[in-house]
Formats: sequence, structure tokens, C-alpha cells
Amino acid sequence: METKNWIDGEWTKGKGNTITVKNPSDLSETVGEITLSTVDQASIAADAAHAALTTWKDITGNERGQYLYAMANALEKHHEELATLASKEMGKPFGEMKGEVTRGIQLLRYYASEGVRSDGDVIPSAAKNVLQYTKRAPLGVIALITPWNFPVAIPIWKLAPALICGNTVLWKPAENGSLTAYKLCTIFEEAGLPKGVLNLIIGKGREIGTFLTEKADIKGLSFTGSTSTGLSLAEVCAKRNIKYQTEMGGKNAAVVLNDADLQKSLPPIISGAFRSAGQKCTATSRIIVEEGIYDQFIDALKEEMENVKLGHALEAGSYLGPVASLEQFKKMNRYIALAQKEAEIVYESKDQTTYDGYYIKPLVATGVSSNHALFQEETFGPLAVIIKVKDYDEAIDILNDTDYGLSASIFTNDLHRAHRFLDDAEIGMVRVNQETAGVEYQAPFGGMKQSSSHTREQGQAALDFYSIIKTCAVHYG
Ligand code: NAD
Repeated sequence: METKNWIDGEWTKGKGNTITVKNPSDLSETVGEITLSTVDQASIAADAAHAALTTWKDITGNERGQYLYAMANALEKHHEELATLASKEMGKPFGEMKGEVTRGIQLLRYYASEGVRSDGDVIPSAAKNVLQYTKRAPLGVIALITPWNFPVAIPIWKLAPALICGNTVLWKPAENGSLTAYKLCTIFEEAGLPKGVLNLIIGKGREIGTFLTEKADIKGLSFTGSTSTGLSLAEVCAKRNIKYQTEMGGKNAAVVLNDADLQKSLPPIISGAFRSAGQKCTATSRIIVEEGIYDQFIDALKEEMENVKLGHALEAGSYLGPVASLEQFKKMNRYIALAQKEAEIVYESKDQTTYDGYYIKPLVATGVSSNHALFQEETFGPLAVIIKVKDYDEAIDILNDTDYGLSASIFTNDLHRAHRFLDDAEIGMVRVNQETAGVEYQAPFGGMKQSSSHTREQGQAALDFYSIIKTCAVHYG
């Protein structure tokens, strides 16, 4: 497979360099080739998105919804094919990847139905014979810049609400999610979307992403990726007065109280830490355990970790696959070396794979202070760090003592402390007896502090981002 851009309904080859994509589960397998684009090509895409805007925003929400239903149906038809390609491109186990495609289908159908839902309020006027009401208007052309870790669900949770609100889209996927992005757009082509409504530009963040943010005539930017990139893009958007949303990094924690049911708590804690090889923005990377249950927790965790099998992403039974890229592999090896040197190892998997790939053995460590790099920095890999605390209050202090605020869970049977936790945590998504990852598509998604621009994705909240409210008043007396 070789990528092409989808611009103005046409497939055009990038005019930049070509990168060969190897399967991170088995580096002897070539998955395809990515051809990068030039800024001139991105500029043509921006013109196409503008040209398509007039017609797209003028058709009814119902008609736009029908396109989204057709996109969902096309995706359903190619479900396994797309999941297989994405697994090969970035190493997420096939079962999880299929779940991600299912999420994409659900999101398309959810937002398709928004085309015929109420989009405003009637506000009683103080004057007689005046009908005063609000309605949503589209923003215009929207740029989407997406990461590689959810190469299907994240783009769809942006483009589906953007399109249903009447915007047109310029999408730049992450370099190492570009084969999947190309395939996804070939699937969407089957839905008969009018040309220029959705444009795909494959390219480098520093070139194409920078052009879209700094130069293209866009009215909105939705970005998901690292905090450093997100903050710099936010600054540019603020200066240009472009509406933006940045969903960024996390350092998510599971808090385990003395009364937790360990049998029920460990599977979601381990899943949060090690599914997708820990490469979820909502992955559990800190585990804060109250001292009364600490020893039992460690014993139960060691036992449960024996089920966490590292293996090829397309082989049944692999709980986690490799990390996605050489860059991720090198970074994780640095953190693992740091843990081996400065922490106490609680558990290290002994799994051996027969493949040459970017495999990092799941590791659980303890024995570092809460201001240690391992407990503060987003590692984005299969490494979890445990800290013992004397009580709930200390757990909350440590939980909140981080730059991030994306997701956190508490494991307890104490209803009082569970509710206090939901208030005390300075975190956007707070959960009780549930994994830190896995917020449902119809619910708002987003963080606090350095994890987010404080806007929300998914659910009804996404419609607020992709539209602007107009206040209308009609005098009929
Ligand atoms: P990244 O910031 O390196 O890249 C994200 C996207 O931005 C890519 O498309 C990339 O090409 C582009 N980009 C990079 N530099 C750019 C620049 N200077 N200008 C414009 N665009 C640029 O992040 P990543 O490594 O792809 O993804 C991993 C990160 O994403 C992690 O920090 C993770 O926590 C975060 N993430 C957050 C969420 C969330 O919802 N909060 C979800 C998934 C991932």
C-alpha cells in the first residue's frame, strides 16, 4: 500500500519524501509506504475545503446525517480489513483495534442523528411579539491534527461532529498513522461525500501541521497529541483568534483504598496500565495504594500480571503488543533503564517473543518519591509505578501533585470517600471502581490543567466546539 492525499475528491500522490512503514510486531514485514506532502499541496486542500463549504453548510442537517450514516455503513463493511492494517501499522492488538473501529462506527451514527436534533433554545423576549431564539452555525473550515495511538477513533470523534455541524475539514494524521488514515478515507469515499468536504493531507507535523495552523484560512483547530506541541499550537491560534481545542498528555492514577475489593479492582487497573502497551492518553501509569492493603495488593498484582502476555499484535492471546515506533521504543527503554537503576522492581514480565519488533516487557516499579520523573512524566508505555500512602488525604495530595489532569479512578467500597474523590480530584474524567481509560463516546472527554484546553470532545460537548451560537430575534407584531 502506498498513501495518497484526498484533496477535492481526487487522489493525489504527495510530492515529498517517502517513508517505508515496517510492522512494529515484526520488523521483517513491510506494511506500506507513506508519501509526505508539500505545503503547496496543503494549500490546494485548504482552497478545496473553502470551495466545498457553501454547499455543505447549506444542505440540511438531515442530508449531512445521511452521509454520516453511509460512512458508518462503509466502515462496518471494511471493519476487519481496517483493524488489521492499523494493527500492523502501529502494533495495537487486533481485538482492541476492532473495538476501536466499532467505536468509530458508533460515533458516526451518534453524530449522524444530531442532524435532526434540536440545536437551539427559544428565549422569551421582554418585548411583545418578538420571537427570540438561538441556533448553531458552522465555524467554517476546520483543521484536524491527530496522533497515532487511536488512528481511527480520534479522527472520527473529531470529523463526525465537525461535518454534522456543517463545517468542512482538513485532516492531517500522525505520520505513523497515515496508512490507516489513507485507508479510512478510501472507505469514506464509498459514502459519496461531496468533493472537498473532507480532505486528507499526509505530511510532517512541523510542515503541514504548522502550515494549517499558522497560514491556512481555518476557523477552528482540533488537535490531539503531546502537551508541548498542543501548547505551541494553542498560542498560534490565540494570536489568530482561531477557535481551538487541544487534548494533550496525561499521568493518570488509580487510587486503591484499604477497603477495595482486590479481585474486582486488579483487572481494570492492569488493563488501564498495559492494554495498548500503555500508549493511551488515559493509561494508568501511577498506582497510589493505602498502606493497610499494600502488601495484599502487591501479592495479588504479581499473580494477575502472569496473565499479561506480550506478543505479536495479530496473534490471539497477546494482551499487549509492541510499542508503536522506534522513537517510542527508544524512549521506553530509557524509562525502563531509569526504573531498573532508581526504583525497586515489583514485577517484570519474562515473556519472550520470537519476532524482531519494538517489544517492551511490562514492568511495575515502586520505591520512588512522588516527585520522581517516573511518577511525574508521561512515559506512554507499559510501565506502572506504585506509591504507598498512609491515608486518603495523602492519596489526594499525591494524586493532584502533577501538571496533568486527564483521568483518574478510585477503587473502594466506601460511598462517602468515592464521592469525595470525585470532588477532590483536579481531573477531567474521574471514575469509581473503573479503569482510567474507556470513557464512552456519548459522554464528554477531556482533561484539566496541562492535559487540555479545557474544551471537551465527544457527546454533545463536541457540538459546542464545532459550532457557534447565533442569537436571533424576529419582530412579528
Ligand atoms: P505529537 O504531539 O508528537 O503529534 C500529534 C500530531 O501533531 C501529529 O499529527 C503530528 O504530526 C502533529 N505535530 C507534531 N508537531 C507539530 C507541529 N509543530 N505543528 C503542528 N503539528 C504538529 O503526539 P503523538 O506522539 O503523535 O501522540 C502521543 C501524545 O498524544 C501523548 O502525549 C498522548 O497523551 C497524547 N494523546 C492525548 C489524547 C487526549 O485526548 N488527551 C488522546 C490521545 C493521545
